[in-house]
Amino acid sequence: MLTINGAAGEGGGQILRTALSLSVLQQRPIRIENIRAGRPKPGLMRQHLTCVKAAAQISAADVQGDMLGSTALEFHPRALAPGHHHFAIGTAGSAMLVLQTVLPPLLRAEEPSRITIEGGTHNPLAPSATFFEHAFLPRIREMGARVTFACERVGLFPAGGGRVVLNVQPSELTPLTLTDRGERIVTHAEVLIAGIAGHVALRELTRIADRFRLRREQLRHTDLGHSTGPGNVISVIAQFQRVTEVITAFGARGVSAESVADGACAELESYLASSAPVGEHLSDQLLLPLWLAGGGEFRTDAISGHLETNAALINQFDGPQVALENGSNGVRISLRDR
Ligand code: ATP
Repeated sequence: MLTINGAAGEGGGQILRTALSLSVLQQRPIRIENIRAGRPKPGLMRQHLTCVKAAAQISAADVQGDMLGSTALEFHPRALAPGHHHFAIGTAGSAMLVLQTVLPPLLRAEEPSRITIEGGTHNPLAPSATFFEHAFLPRIREMGARVTFACERVGLFPAGGGRVVLNVQPSELTPLTLTDRGERIVTHAEVLIAGIAGHVALRELTRIADRFRLRREQLRHTDLGHSTGPGNVISVIAQFQRVTEVITAFGARGVSAESVADGACAELESYLASSAPVGEHLSDQLLLPLWLAGGGEFRTDAISGHLETNAALINQFDGPQVALENGSNGVRISLRDR
């Protein structure tokens, strides 16, 4: 059995999720110790526990240690079980992180799957449904993944209550090479609000539109009403020929709409100031698809804690190994078979 130290590097939930995906993919038993030891409240929180249950359900796994707060887990997958599965996190925990755990193995299954997850669709410190749809999915579709995705109900942090559905067809992935962005095509800004005053969305969009000279048709705002929320999230979607970056910023009590918009603008400016196609968050999320494809390479600006941690974890498993090389042109990430 492979033993994984959950305290390594970032010491967060991603170690657990990547380890689960690879354990299911390779049908290899694992033991994870020190789960989320790098976080203020270590152990399995509800989102992480749902990831464990979801991975177990799609692999008929025997599991020990799958309870809230647990800091050690043994996971023995027995057989890949595609099909219809439904998971409810029960809090605003990120539904997208649960999806990302089960997606890689299901691409390798022999039958299609339909996965429904209830939870948060737009959470801080996690890929939002907007990021998943515009930044992540197009890249894996380009690699051959046959997947459709629908955010049936938006669930904004902190209330959650969203629902997403992913249909996965068995797919053979081919390596991706992503070393430049290509021409910029268009930038959009979208604001979601729930249970707060409508002028917040308009002020945020105005600020972003002024800074990046966006026209009315590049701006969208959706008021989810008072039945959910309160919540406010900005997504700025910058589309290039070869890649799309999605910047996410969350409104917070006591922070002006303009300051929230300025945060999103600053992040987009920093992305635009570099020529690297893959942004910070996409960089760690592309490793598993490349692993599935048996190789590939891309360029990003810097090695984030998540990227380094995920790479080190993947390299503990058999199969393609990740190499990170710092150069004058940013960081080159490649995956090759040993
Ligand atoms: P914890 O940190 O509490 O353990 P976690 O389970 O969310 O929580 P992390 O290990 O921090 O786990 O992983 C977070 C994941 O979310 C990473 O893949 C990271 O790239 C991604 N992520 C974080 N912020 C964003 C963002 N703004 N846009 C897209 N992806 C994001």
